[in-house]
Amino acid sequence: MDITALSETILAGDRRALARAITLVESARADHREAAAELIGLLARSGREALRIGLSGTPGVGKSTFIEAFGLMLTGQGLRVAVLAVDPSSARSGGSILGDKTRMDHLARDPNAFIRPSPSQTHLGGVARRTREAVALCEAAGYDVVLIETVGVGQSETVVAEMSDLFLLLLAPAGGDELQGVKRGIMEMADLILVNKADGALKDTATRTCADYAGALRLLRKRPQDPPGFPKAMTVSAIEETGLDKAWAEMQALAHWRREHGHFARRRAEQARGWFVQEVRQALLARLETPEARALMAALGDRVAQGETAPALAAAEVLAQLDAPPPKR
Ligand code: GDP
Repeated sequence: MDITALSETILAGDRRALARAITLVESARADHREAAAELIGLLARSGREALRIGLSGTPGVGKSTFIEAFGLMLTGQGLRVAVLAVDPSSARSGGSILGDKTRMDHLARDPNAFIRPSPSQTHLGGVARRTREAVALCEAAGYDVVLIETVGVGQSETVVAEMSDLFLLLLAPAGGDELQGVKRGIMEMADLILVNKADGALKDTATRTCADYAGALRLLRKRPQDPPGFPKAMTVSAIEETGLDKAWAEMQALAHWRREHGHFARRRAEQARGWFVQEVRQALLARLETPEARALMAALGDRVAQGETAPALAAAEVLAQLDAPPPKR
């Protein structure tokens, strides 16, 4: 595969090349992993940077409706928008949050938009790694905004918040007690809470819910990366497309403030450091997955189980074997 040629077509903004490159980073094959690392290394030199926006919300809250309306508003302003998803459950449930072709079909047809469903893996770490790489590819391809969507289950919010510059929480209008249902940890990650469906019969409830969340946000510990007034709660209607421009203005103001005060660059540097550490960890773990290593683990595991050797001694033997140069074939 000609990685240099592929990198050039990506830099030129070719969507098909971008899609092919994402398929490459999603592959677990060793030669593909190598090619992907080389490609990402080449593209990193472009120095292009998108605004990475994480978005979480439980199923049914209106994520796809919001992303479609919001995305179309941004492309209407001449911006290029990429949408990626982090959904470790997609492989199990058979339907990923973005896998359904009918979702966001207007945005999908927009030449200035790029939509990619979650890689189908059951393991969140694997999905996270591939999504981080896909974000890097989208940035190199010249997208101005990369939206990273996730469902509000398990650890996926943390993973998405960690790869984003801004994190949005989409919520539905609800009675007062349901406010307790949003986990504190998730509230603490949010930069902007958007109470969706603030239209028709739900409008008043949405306004009340928004006030409740605004109150709850004020009780949270102040974070150094927040200008006065943030984190913030506001109402939107994805269907009526109201509040979207205001929400975008808030996101831009926040990103601007963070850039000016060094938080933006610092956060990206920390993210890069974390990414590196995870690469090392995953590469080490991958060395346990070779047929030889598995056979050795199984054999030593049997000996440990039968009391013939101590666990720590057996572990030391495995590590010594991993460090040994690979046998000549
Ligand atoms: P997702 O599962 O979070 O992606 O939610 P969807 O975007 O599929 O929306 C779930 C349901 O909520 C659909 O029936 C939408 O039509 C509806 N919905 C989404 N946004 C709004 C909104 O702003 N107002 C109202 N009234 N309904 C909405």
